[in-house]
Amino acid sequence: MEEEKVSSIEQADRYMFRTYSRFPITLVRGEGCRVWDEEGRSYLDFVGGIAVCALGHSSPIVTKALEEQSRMLVHVSNLFYTKPQIELARLLVENSFADRVFFGNSGAEANEAAIKLARKYARDNMGEGKFIIICMENSFHGRTMATLSATGQEKVRKGFDPLLGGFKFVPFNNVGAIAEAVDDTTCAVMLEPIQGEGGVVVPHESYLREVRDLCDEKGILLIFDEVQVGMGRTGKLFAHEHYGVSPDIMTLAKALGNGLPIGAMLATEKLSESFGPGTHASTFGGTPLVTAVAGAVVKSILEDGILERCTQMGAYFRERLRGLVERYGFVKEVRGLGLIIGLELEVEGGPIVNKCLDQGFLINCTQDKVLRFLPPLIVEQDEIDQMVDCLEGIFSQME
Ligand SMILES: *Cc1c(COP(=O)(O)O)cnc(C)c1O
Repeated sequence: MEEEKVSSIEQADRYMFRTYSRFPITLVRGEGCRVWDEEGRSYLDFVGGIAVCALGHSSPIVTKALEEQSRMLVHVSNLFYTKPQIELARLLVENSFADRVFFGNSGAEANEAAIKLARKYARDNMGEGKFIIICMENSFHGRTMATLSATGQEKVRKGFDPLLGGFKFVPFNNVGAIAEAVDDTTCAVMLEPIQGEGGVVVPHESYLREVRDLCDEKGILLIFDEVQVGMGRTGKLFAHEHYGVSPDIMTLAKALGNGLPIGAMLATEKLSESFGPGTHASTFGGTPLVTAVAGAVVKSILEDGILERCTQMGAYFRERLRGLVERYGFVKEVRGLGLIIGLELEVEGGPIVNKCLDQGFLINCTQDKVLRFLPPLIVEQDEIDQMVDCLEGIFSQME
């Protein structure tokens, strides 16, 4: 068995780019919040495919949609209409601020579409020379050239210059900094309502409202990247709903297909006029197969009590983690909303993540010191208890 495991990992090392630093396990199966490796060891999954597997692994809802649609039609290109794509667009529009949807394959692509639309709309409606998009420090918008240029993290950008021009960076959660940065070259502000990769940073209550008001006052667009925090992760379908504001453009991906690759860019009617025939496209964007699954996922999130449950379990999880903050001096703070939760430490998180793995728990760490939890939204209280007990065991040996 040991030999087999080494051989999977050795083969990966032989054939694939080394772009990822992976954990030394090869996963073969999953069900609900649990995954199994090739040796038959099981793990409770509090990474959830990085906020992707909202309905858990091997969700019967996903399997059914996949099976049925794969027998009907998998792909025909966007030269033709397909029913699952139209149905998913209807669901997203009827449950959001937006009037229209464009489908791509990933978060980065959704953000590429958003950046292109903001520029094109500005060109069409605001006059010459307005193309700057104000982005946030510590943001994350993807790894394509445009989206890494919009990402406010040196480690993502380093080595790839010249980057795409037209982005300016200001600190998150500080509307004054945006106000200072806006000038007559600005066309939009782009931000994550809660920063995910940036360390689960939740803005203060009135921040998004203030940003919205500022954008309206200056006549510039507001783009929300909800790739990580959208689709129920925070206990509402979209994170911005907590703050009573809407953007002009919103991007989605991660949990939208529960693991099938799909991204979406949503916008208001007025903006959509700037994306006419021939302005933007994607061969695979919104295939019948992927949109049939995403449609089933969205329906389940809306109709099966997933949001209520996410809210309850998130509150319970954070309360239990606050117990750890009280008991251990090196555990600084719990942050989050619904089931995107960060536990900030005063020590490096990497070794703790590895100890969790040894004990059968998958978690992740961002910004070196923030343990991040993104379990499936169907996580059970008992599973949260097991996770926190595991952390407690590890912490108690660190003092
Ligand atoms: C993951 C993520 C992206 C990038 O999505 P990909 O599908 O990896 O391209 C963009 N924005 C945010 C906020 C993300 O969390």
